[in-house]
Amino acid sequence: MFHLTRLTHTFTRSLSFPLRTFASATPSTVGPSFALTEEQRQIQELAHNFAREEIIPKAAHHDVTGEYPTEIIKKAWELGLVNTHIPQQFGGLGLGVFDSSLVSEELAWGCTGIQTAIEANGLAEAPLIVAGNEAQQKKYLGRMTEEPLMAAYCVTEPGAGSDVSGVKTKAEKRGDHWVINGSKMWITNGGKANWYFVLAKTDPTAKTGLAFTGFIVDADTPGITPGRKEINLGQRASDTRGITFEEVVVPEENVLGTPGIGFKIAMKAFDITRPLVASAAVGLARRALEEATRYSLERKTFGKPIFEHGAVATMIADMAIGVEAARSMVWKAAWVRDQNQRNTYYASIAKALASDVAVNAANMAVQIFGGNGFNTEYPVEKLYRDSKIFQIYEGTSQIQRVIISKAVADNIANS
Ligand SMILES: Cc1cc2nc3c(=O)[nH]c(=O)nc-3n(C[C@H](O)[C@H](O)[C@H](O)COP(=O)(O)OP(=O)(O)OC[C@H]3O[C@@H](n4cnc5c(N)ncnc54)[C@H](O)[C@@H]3O)c2cc1C
Repeated sequence: MFHLTRLTHTFTRSLSFPLRTFASATPSTVGPSFALTEEQRQIQELAHNFAREEIIPKAAHHDVTGEYPTEIIKKAWELGLVNTHIPQQFGGLGLGVFDSSLVSEELAWGCTGIQTAIEANGLAEAPLIVAGNEAQQKKYLGRMTEEPLMAAYCVTEPGAGSDVSGVKTKAEKRGDHWVINGSKMWITNGGKANWYFVLAKTDPTAKTGLAFTGFIVDADTPGITPGRKEINLGQRASDTRGITFEEVVVPEENVLGTPGIGFKIAMKAFDITRPLVASAAVGLARRALEEATRYSLERKTFGKPIFEHGAVATMIADMAIGVEAARSMVWKAAWVRDQNQRNTYYASIAKALASDVAVNAANMAVQIFGGNGFNTEYPVEKLYRDSKIFQIYEGTSQIQRVIISKAVADNIANS
């Protein structure tokens, strides 16, 4: 595939250039810009071409069969489209959240199931980027750049999703190591991961902020049993499982940060990953917009293309409004984070907005396709099924609004 090779070459070459000028510039000297640099356009184009040529032709197959897209992920990894934010000192590209959002929007435009499998690596890696020491980063982030491995973020449990403080998996210190017991649920890449980030309770008497510890756990450690692959409404290429931990021994050196600060680490990771989940939702919404527009220009009723009926054109316009607004918010949330400023508020707004935009856009696309929209021969029923999860994982839309409203109230109280 000549063009991919050429783009890869350009992409790789660009890594020796100051690709990070946008993210590394100081807030006082660089204001917002909607103009992508040449390097950013190349990254976007590489991801777009990959989605068009490698993901879209096989997306329906992975949706129907639920087969994990190993070969696609391997090719994406070879092009540098996986693990984008691993620092350069550990062999990664060291892209900021903004640049990574360009990649995730394009991959998700291709298929959000496959993109979620890829992005779950970023979610598992984020706690290590936030709190890992050099040895941990070198060992666990470094290996992700040496071969196409997967990783998983294990926080949710059957009884604790939105309320992370309800996590019951516990870790006890025994001599110079820790022993983990408990059950996790809904873990993306659960059956494919080489290692896990695991949140466990280490001090039952302490307040939430001091009660939990984050661990890096090798997936082949005795006592770990992934459950069956869950059959979900959408994003069926992605591997979601429960995992049980029974007397799982973890060395002290695999504690992230210090014992007790795991909850904060697990939450801080979302500042990196929520803008990327949001950009994936934008990618899905954009795909729905494109499919629906194309169809509306071809399909005729009452002697003219349905696009010429005002009610249909209005849906197209509303989809476009959503895509543009949500992407702008993603870019702001990502940009703030890349300026090393706290972006939790913006990340939640981006995630809540883009998720709703994706669900609404997919819904309208099905509507515009009419009966064909309800049929598996056409692409939009998959978008409809795939879209819903954006309002649920990485913090539901209700939880994002809890975070946003608290931030607004705090701001007013402190003004
Ligand atoms: C496909 C998939 C992949 C996932 N991947 C991962 C993963 O890789 N790692 C991981 O750790 N987890 C993962 N999750 C878990 C996901 O993050 C949780 O499902 C999600 O946070 C919601 O938790 P819950 O399912 O327990 O719902 P609950 O917390 O039981 O919520 C149920 C409903 O109550 C609402 N609600 C709860 N509390 C409040 C509140 N305070 N205010 C207002 N409304 C509230 C919720 O918004 C929701 O509508 C995944 C889930 C799915 C389905």
